[in-house]
Amino acid sequence: MPARAASLVALALAILGLAVGGSRAANPSDAGDPADRHVVLIMIDGLRWQEVFRGLDEALATKERGNVADAEALHRTYGGASPSERRAKLMPFLWSTVASEGRFFGNRDEGSKVECTNGRFVSYPGYSETICGIVDPSIEGNAKVVNPNRNVFEALAAKPAFRGRVWAFGCWDVFPFIFGSERNGLYVDDSIGPFAPPAGSPKLSETILTVNRLRRDVPRRWPGSHFDAMLAPIVLEWTRLSRPRALFIAYGETDEWAHETDYARYLDAAHRADASIAELWQLMQSMPEYRNRTTFVITADHGRGATESASRNGRATTPEPADRMRCGWRSSDQAFGPRRRPPMSPSIRPKSQRPLPARWEWIGRARFPPPHRRLTSDRGTTIRRHERRAP
Ligand SMILES: [Zn+2]
Repeated sequence: MPARAASLVALALAILGLAVGGSRAANPSDAGDPADRHVVLIMIDGLRWQEVFRGLDEALATKERGNVADAEALHRTYGGASPSERRAKLMPFLWSTVASEGRFFGNRDEGSKVECTNGRFVSYPGYSETICGIVDPSIEGNAKVVNPNRNVFEALAAKPAFRGRVWAFGCWDVFPFIFGSERNGLYVDDSIGPFAPPAGSPKLSETILTVNRLRRDVPRRWPGSHFDAMLAPIVLEWTRLSRPRALFIAYGETDEWAHETDYARYLDAAHRADASIAELWQLMQSMPEYRNRTTFVITADHGRGATESASRNGRATTPEPADRMRCGWRSSDQAFGPRRRPPMSPSIRPKSQRPLPARWEWIGRARFPPPHRRLTSDRGTTIRRHERRAP
């Protein structure tokens, strides 16, 4: 396979663009390919392509480099003689269902390259690039500034066919800013406060109310984020109750544990994210509305590089911290078609200078005027995740 440099955005939004194409039809049942009618974009924060494609990294699975208290136990759980054996233990759903029904991009060992193009190596620019389809050079860090750029989810939510059926979930209190909620009214759950969708939404179930209590009562380990377990059960319940057509889910623990140089918990977080994705996939496959009509796209907001400090900090200390992987599949046998170059420019020129691909034109390149308000977290300090120094 020839080497290729590409960004995630075009693929994810091309698929979302297809979903929108369906909504344009006078009768939704007349929409084009029914397999494109529901999209779930899943991001696993700072998950390296190395673990996705090679599994446990022997070099980091030690006391010295990865703070691993029991390296033998970690090897028993995720170790293996070959990369394919190790990755299947780490992310069994990816390497079973996705491997057989979907497509992978970004395995550098096979010459496939997927990169961010924002050049910032932190989370907000990576998420913004992914959901807006452009790089905004003014978005430099993780400060709580309302994103002035229109994103694909707000564009979908504005369409009558998508009303009440576009939802975004993350475990970080910056997500409402990344999605521009204050500007566009899109409800974004950050897993910090209670899940409280706007009036007119379906009634919350007992499970959701229980998780809301846990969000309040379980002490948070990190100031601006919470455990992924505060998100996963609500995503399942809300999928049952609200029948989303476009869904965004971001798991954050991988990044938090990596910042703590806790390689074992980083791997556990990746393993749990894989299990959560599997559970959602199985749920949707059990619902006639979704079965064989749903596309999952899975990626990361950035990589972490190959060195110990880069892996910890996710910063630009190595030549490749912007690397990321992506994979996607959908429940029909049509998948994304044959293995081919994704429909995107291989250039690393900033996207803001490129013409929008045809499928993105419906979103446009809207940039809304300020306020560019810089807000503070509930602990009084501006959250700058990924930018803090390692201990
Ligand atoms: Zn991140």
